[in-house]
Parts: sequence; C-alpha cells; structure tokens
Amino acid sequence: MNPFDAFIQAMAAESMETLRHFDLPVALAAGIAPDKAHAWARMQDVYYGKTKFTRKQALAARKARGFSLDELGLIERRVGGVKDAGERWRLRLELLDVTGGYKAIERAARELIPREDNAPAKKQVAFSQPNNGRARITIDTTDRNAADLEHRLRQHIDPALPAAAQMEEEFWRILDGTTGGVVAAAPRPIVMVPIDAHARILAGDGDDVVLTLTDGTTMTGAEYLEYEFGDALEVAAFHPEHGAVNLYDTERFANQKQRDLACMVSPVCAFPGCRHGALGCEIHHVHAWKHGGLTNMNNLVPLCRYHNRINDDDPWRRKRGHITMIRGAPWWISPRGYHIKNTDRGALDQLFGPQNT
Ligand SMILES: [Zn+2]
Repeated sequence: MNPFDAFIQAMAAESMETLRHFDLPVALAAGIAPDKAHAWARMQDVYYGKTKFTRKQALAARKARGFSLDELGLIERRVGGVKDAGERWRLRLELLDVTGGYKAIERAARELIPREDNAPAKKQVAFSQPNNGRARITIDTTDRNAADLEHRLRQHIDPALPAAAQMEEEFWRILDGTTGGVVAAAPRPIVMVPIDAHARILAGDGDDVVLTLTDGTTMTGAEYLEYEFGDALEVAAFHPEHGAVNLYDTERFANQKQRDLACMVSPVCAFPGCRHGALGCEIHHVHAWKHGGLTNMNNLVPLCRYHNRINDDDPWRRKRGHITMIRGAPWWISPRGYHIKNTDRGALDQLFGPQNT
C-alpha cells in the first residue's frame, strides 16, 4: 500500500482505528494544524473516553465505522452547541444513521439541530427592591450590546478618579438625552482569524468557527462572511509560531496597528487578576524604552495606568514584579520568580490553545 492509499484508509475506512490510536502530542509535533488536532482529540474522547452514556457510546462507535474523520468532525461541530449531554448523544446517533456523505450530514444536521439551541435565551432588565434609597438594575443582553455600552460609558471619564461612579452618571446623562447615544460611539472592533480558519470560512465550511473580536465579543464564520466583504470590520492574521503577523493589508506597521495587535494578544491588562480591558490600557514597553527597548511587537503589552506605573521597569528592582514576553505573549514574573499569565483569552491562546511557560 502506498502512503496515499494508507492516508485515505486512515482518514475514511479505518477512521475509528485512527481515532482509537490518536495521540495529541504526537500529532501536534508532526505539524498537524492545532485546531484539527484538538478536534480529533475531542472526538477520541467522545468515542473512546470516559462517559456515563456507555451503551450509547458503544453503539455510536459501531455506527461510526465507515464515516470519514471529517464527517465525524462535522457531526461533533454540529452537536457541540447543544447543552445537554444526553441530547447530544441522541443527535449524534441520529446523524450517524445518515447515508450519502458529508453534504447529506450537513443537511440533516441543519434540520435536526435548530439554531436557537446555540443562542442564549434570556434577555431582560430586572430591578431590585429599593433599600436605603438605593436600588440595583441588572440587564441581561448580548455581549455586543454590553461591550458597546461599556465602551461608551468609559469614553469621557477622568482617569484620576474611580471609573464606576462616573460611568453611572454618564449612563443617566445618555438616558436624559443630554449626551450622545451608544451605538454611534462604538469603536470598530477587529476580528482575529487564524489563517487556516479563514480559508475554511471562504470555502463555505466555517459556520462552526467562532472568531473573537478585540472588544471580547465573538462571531461565527457565517457572520464573518457577511461582514468581511462590507467595510464594517478589520481583520488580523495570526501564525502559531510567530504570533501576530499583520493586518490584512500591505502597509508598514503603523502605531495604531501595533496597539491593536498588542490588544489582541492580551485583551486585558497583563497583570494577574486585573480586569481592565486592553482597549483602555496604556501600551507598555517590556524592555523599557529608557533602557533601549524598541517599539516592536515582541516588546509591547497593554497595561492599565496603575500597573504600568508599578511594574518593575528596572531589572534590579524587585518590588511589584514585572512583565516579560514568552513566545509572543505577556507573562507576569513575581519578585520571587513565579510566572503567571493573566488571561487565556488572548489571540494566541484562542487560535492555538493555551500556552505554558
Ligand atoms: Zn492592570
């Protein structure tokens, strides 16, 4: 058997044997695309991992024989949005009854799994009982609305004073109509795309791909297609080894682009426990400017004003810890040398999996 025959056999006729023997570190080391390798590892877990649905699992493993790895992967992507594990097994078994190949499974999944299953249900404004002249209002809404509102409320605050109280005042000024609305003030978020996912989306096979924007919200591959050919979005590309590559245009790095890329690598201030969004942060030079540090991507990290000030810029100072870059991402090193990463929601984690030191 030549290697191509063996490859086809491993991917299709013998796919379940391939899954059974699948070894994630080996696959990654061999250069398999990380999102594909992780998807296969999850499939191995579905068909051979521990579960309380042992009979359904055994039945599924029998039915799955003859399905290609790509078809099994499609089934997992389609059932993945369904919350209830028992319901996922029921749908998986139904889809394993579909004959007619990849496109037929896709059609069946569209009928079997309504899109509402993936959408958050609750949408509400709730008011607490008043207490001592105070009351609490909570709003359950989309992440998009929340990000726009937060950005708008932070727009004119005085950074020398606490933000929360100023945001409350700004909120009522907006409702009074004494100041501008929310939507018009929203920034243009940039969408982060791994190069291989971009190709899949353009090929029409990216409905399941979830992309993250620089304001922390997400969109599906289908939504991305709608926007990409309009002018509403900017796009940034990332490479698993080299980190932030460039925005998809041919200009030289401009400062705003470096800022944007730094915010994608660390969407919050890089100090442990700090929740300040990167868009409102200062851009910190890891190797300090005054010590000859350059303004290039491997030296730029968003830090909030406070943490930018207390960071131990001088290498001999050991008071509050300092930020360093490891494979393109910022880590905080404590005065005693512990390494802590504040976020696993940065572009490199999202696109290529969480990183270790
Ligand atoms: Zn901070």
